This record gives sequence, structure tokens and C-alpha cells, in this order.
Amino acid sequence: MERFYFDTPKRPCYVDLLHVANPILRKHNDVHNHTAQRPFRCKETIQMTTSKWDFKAVSRSLPAPHLINLSPEQMARIGAYERVLEIAAATQVPKPIFSKYFVKAAVGRPNGNILPAGNIEYGLCQALHGEESAANAFRIRYGNADPRHAILGFSGREPGNIPRCCGNCRDIMRDILGPELEIVTGAPNGGIATVMPLRECLLDDFSPCAVDGDIEFAAKDVLDQAMPLENDIYSPPGIHPRRKYYAYLLTRTADAYAGALDLGCEYHPIYPLRDAVRQARRANDPFIISAYIVCVQRDPALLGQPPDVMYKDRQHLLEMVIQAELVRDDPSWDAKVTLITCDGRVCGEPSDGGEIRVTGAWETTAREWLPFPFTLHAFGEEFVAMARAKYKKRLGMES
Ligand SMILES: [Zn+2]
Repeated sequence: MERFYFDTPKRPCYVDLLHVANPILRKHNDVHNHTAQRPFRCKETIQMTTSKWDFKAVSRSLPAPHLINLSPEQMARIGAYERVLEIAAATQVPKPIFSKYFVKAAVGRPNGNILPAGNIEYGLCQALHGEESAANAFRIRYGNADPRHAILGFSGREPGNIPRCCGNCRDIMRDILGPELEIVTGAPNGGIATVMPLRECLLDDFSPCAVDGDIEFAAKDVLDQAMPLENDIYSPPGIHPRRKYYAYLLTRTADAYAGALDLGCEYHPIYPLRDAVRQARRANDPFIISAYIVCVQRDPALLGQPPDVMYKDRQHLLEMVIQAELVRDDPSWDAKVTLITCDGRVCGEPSDGGEIRVTGAWETTAREWLPFPFTLHAFGEEFVAMARAKYKKRLGMES
């Protein structure tokens, strides 16, 4: 978990926020159109401004995300937002022996217990992130209870921060806490605190693209190259079939690198995109211009649904894109991502020359499909300069 300062387009307006939660003000205002009509100031309004935090919702909208007023439903949860931030600020869970960065977190339900959480580092720069320990704490307290309306709090250093969760944490949060999870971030001393539903940092609504000869050729090529690389005797068939895919990277030098799932009995796999990224990195070829993801789907019920690429895998592709960005001094460097579904072969069978039929294709990019990304830019300009120099030196370039 890392955070950036987030510029707000305008200062918050307590009056806009408060009148929707105040029964007296509601008598005089339309709660469903509260931004159109300013409430009058009254005694009750003043009493409602006692919170040290000014909560704002994060909205992901292109071209830039921004902060908006809380919805009436969120206004009713302000007390819970305050509790989760207070408990996060006091947590004793973090143990960051390598990074020295304390991720102070807490998790719970608006009308239930709030539990402390935090990052725990071990091994060699291995970490149980704050989000992971929070998901664990939630399961310990609430078991199989419906996780809807779970809230996760982060005690940040500066007001107005929005969370920058890594890809792996998005994976565990969406599976364990659900996309309706609200992530609340605020500084211990108050100020603007942000409320972001997890769904704002998930993206699976990709643009379909035409299935032409190039797509069909690419799909066959990916399967030919990547299927033999797969090492998987442990994943059960039928569970999350959209997450079983193959990856293929094309670089500026027209070289290609294939990747497939590498899964051991301990269930800490290397996902296909990362498998391909590692090959490109070892070939000193970081300039990825295009990534292909191919998922073999035989279930008609899944027609029209793109491969479900793990956010952890998206994180590893973006890491490589950032490396290219630094080396080329080009902040706009990005890699096109083409997602393809097809039938005609069964995962695990050897390439036998059989025909495949592409059933769908979608497009996105390495930056677009990971909103609010966590990257090395979070570590500051000095660190970025060091990284740029090292990457350039590795490629034999002057820094
Ligand atoms: Zn994480």
C-alpha cells in the first residue's frame, strides 16, 4: 500500500455534505438533488461539523479522477469511517523490517467490530501487505458472513491521500472483501479523508475489437509458444476458468516472449504475464509494445467475457512498462494489451496443429487496466533517478 497526495479540484463544502444527513435540513432540501440547492445555515449544521475529518469520495472518471461529495448512504457511515481511521492510527500490527514503511490499517463493518491490521515483512523483502492482513482479520472475525459494506481504513501521513494498492492486494480484496469494499484513508490529525469503493480501482469493462486474421494468427501463435511452458498439476478445473490464460509479449525489437502459469504445491504461483516479463528482462529487452492474453474457453456460458487477468499480473507488466518509461525518459510509454478468447484446444494438450476459433477480442493498455497504480514513483524523485540510472546502465546507456 502506498499513497500519493491527491489534488482536489475544489475545497470541500461542509454545507453540501451535511444537509443530506441532517433531518432538520432535509425538511428544507431535496436530498436527491442536494448539490443544486444550498441549505441555509442553522444550529444543527454547526453541531455536525465536529469531525476532524472532511470525508470525500473518490471518483474514477477520465481524463482525471477527482473528489466528490459523499452519497447519502456514505454520509450515514461517517461514524464508521471515523472509527476505522482511529483504530488504524493506533494499530500495532505493522512490522516493516525492510521498507521501514508502516502501513497502518484497520478493517470491519459499519455496525460491527473494527480490527487492526498492517503490513508484516519477512523472508527477504517478502511482505504480507496491510490489505492482506486486513482480509485475514475480517475472515477471523466475520467468517463467511456477507462482506458487503466492509470498510478498510488506512492512516496516512497527509490529508487528501488516495490509496495506491498493489495488484496482488486488489486480487485478495475483490475475492475476500468484494468490490463494494470501501477504502477510507485519512491522516491522524484530520483534514480531507478519502472514501474509495474498491470497484474504482478495478477495470474489466474493456473495449471489444474486431476479430481479424491478425488476431486469429496471434491467438494460435500464443498457444503454440506458451502452452508448452505451463507447469500446473494443481489448479482444479472449472474454478475461475477465465483466469487460466497464456501470455505473449512483443517488444520494440520484434522479439517475443511467452509465459504460462507456473504453480507449485504451496499455491504461490508465478502468473503467465510475469513469466513472460521475466524472460524479457533477462534478455535485456524491456521495451514491450504489445501484450497478448489468450484464454481457451469451451463453456458457452462464458462467451462474450474476456480473460480475467489477475491484478498481480497486471502489476508485473506495468513494472516493466515503467522501466521502459525511465530508460526512454518517456512518461507516456505504454503497452497495448489484447485480450483474446478462443475454443478448439484444451489446456494442457500438446500443440497438435488443430484449428482454433477466436470467440472474442478486447483491447486495453498496461496503464489503463490498473487504475490508481502503485509504482516506484511512490518512492520519490531521488529514488526514481537512481532507478533510471541503474536501468540505463544495464542497457549500456549513459544516464
Ligand atoms: Zn499490496
